Amino acid sequence: MRPYSYVRAQDVDGAVATLAEAPNAAFLAGGTNLVDLMKLGVVQPDVLVDVRRLTSDRVEDLDDGGLRVGAAVPNSDLAADRKVRTRYPALSQALLAGASGQLRNLATTGGNLLQRTRCVYFYDTTTPCNKREPGSGCSATLGHNKNHAILGASEHCVATHPSDMAVAMAALDAFVNMQGPEGERRIPIEELHRLPGDEPECDTTLEHGELSTWVDVPPLGVLSNSTCRKARERASYAFALVSVAAALDVEDGVVRDARIALGGIAHKPWRATKAEEALRGEPASEANFRAAAEIELVEDAEPLRDNAFKVPLARNVITRTLLDLSEER
Ligand SMILES: Cc1cc2nc3c(=O)[nH]c(=O)nc-3n(C[C@H](O)[C@H](O)[C@H](O)COP(=O)(O)OP(=O)(O)OC[C@H]3O[C@@H](n4cnc5c(N)ncnc54)[C@H](O)[C@@H]3O)c2cc1C
Ligand code: SF4
Repeated sequence: MRPYSYVRAQDVDGAVATLAEAPNAAFLAGGTNLVDLMKLGVVQPDVLVDVRRLTSDRVEDLDDGGLRVGAAVPNSDLAADRKVRTRYPALSQALLAGASGQLRNLATTGGNLLQRTRCVYFYDTTTPCNKREPGSGCSATLGHNKNHAILGASEHCVATHPSDMAVAMAALDAFVNMQGPEGERRIPIEELHRLPGDEPECDTTLEHGELSTWVDVPPLGVLSNSTCRKARERASYAFALVSVAAALDVEDGVVRDARIALGGIAHKPWRATKAEEALRGEPASEANFRAAAEIELVEDAEPLRDNAFKVPLARNVITRTLLDLSEER
């Protein structure tokens, strides 16, 4: 057992200041990911700063018609919120597709967004892993890589991002508000997580000590016709092999607008902008949905030894999800 200290900060500024002074400190929210990582010796913070009671635990209407979700809102509360279920169904469904009821009761919005990859080698401290120990190598490249990335990976890391909620937030064009040692900033969710490149140890674009305080979801009408679909090995309690969160606006049989984000296939939630572009102004047909999915995947996908199945799986899940949305109108 490695000793560490536990701090319950009085306010956001205090929490941020404590982390700024301690390079090996970490924020603790629900602890459902961080505590597991500490037990396994994957991360070993000297100081845990408990932030669960510091930020808002409420979902509030914004004047522009969007929603503000406090970083401490439990995943189960967010999924059950009436405003979320009616205006952003993809977000509620994505949350309910993740983890288990007990975990969702404890897990928070801030912690969910910033949870670490589920690559098995990252959790196994007896194996090389560039994300855990930069420069040690990537065990997954030649190891078991069925669950790993098919888009945007690098030779240094082929891990996938684990959060279902973040995939829905990406489709919904959410913004994340951060409070850090240098002040406050608002980041489009698309810019929060990053591809591994030469620095697989960095999951996000955040600086040490930046605390997520809330997430804003904008008021786009198209988003009420949204849904999420998750392909996984078990019906519950399993991370995505491939997931899709999408919103579709169809008028007179023609696609006016589309939002598509993919999970389980890259180091970050993958916004399928090529597919979206291909769909705008085209008839809402199965053939066009399939063709758009192909455009997103075929040129850029680089499957590993064990995960070539993800390419047709992603194509089929995208097509089925868009069909569901076009038929619901
Ligand atoms: C068995 C199991 C199955 C699961 N299945 C799924 C699944 O299918 N889909 C899915 O999406 N998730 C799944 N999860 C993961 C779960 O959703 C996350 O563990 C949870 O959302 C993390 O939230 P938390 O509040 O407990 O974060 P913590 O564990 O407290 O923190 C996670 C990380 O976020 C940081 N952090 C926390 N809050 C903030 C903040 N406000 N600002 C900045 N940094 C912060 C912490 O320092 C830490 O690095 C599963 C987990 C388990 C254990
Ligand atoms: S894929 Fe990334 S997280 Fe997994 S072993 Fe390789 S470097 Fe580590």
